[in-house]
Amino acid sequence: MKIALDIDGCMAEFVRPFLNYYNNQHLTELKYEDVTDYSMDMLGEDFKKNFRKDYDRFIASGYFLDLCVVDGSQEIVTQMKRDGHIIDVVTGRSDSYKGVNDTKRWLNTHMIPYDKLCFRDAKDKPQYLEDAGVDVVVEDYYDTAVECGKRNINALLYHRPWNKNKPSAKGVIAVRSWHEVYDIVNMMGLIE
Ligand SMILES: [Mg+2]
Repeated sequence: MKIALDIDGCMAEFVRPFLNYYNNQHLTELKYEDVTDYSMDMLGEDFKKNFRKDYDRFIASGYFLDLCVVDGSQEIVTQMKRDGHIIDVVTGRSDSYKGVNDTKRWLNTHMIPYDKLCFRDAKDKPQYLEDAGVDVVVEDYYDTAVECGKRNINALLYHRPWNKNKPSAKGVIAVRSWHEVYDIVNMMGLIE
């Protein structure tokens, strides 16, 4: 099968380190658990105003290289690759030289195997995945998962505070760990 994997929120812990960085910059106390929607709008007007600038600084400072790997992701992606699946890493990160370079370095440093690495905005991602013939996507953004489900791509929605209270949707399956991702991918393989 062709499996597309999102990075931030799925393979890499992004929100926690970004909020730490943001809190240090602005002397705030924003918490991971407070991020109850992907937009992060609930963190307030100041956060909304500062986000883009701080996000760009976060990237420019090379913080992408320091992001922790989500438990089990390296092991499971390696196993899925060994099992013969095609692994496409598709991220909404900036495709600036630094964004691309640091993302490749991060994947290599953590020995995460993949066939292809693509940079696509959330709004372009579902169409891209459909055109690429992806069978399964692992994603933490509910809206993207729903759009993929509509296009008959099985979307495994990685459990996070920003997607936990969303209604069920066609083709979207909530997962709480990478081991669960692996079990579901194997089950889908049996059904095919
Ligand atoms: Mg993500």
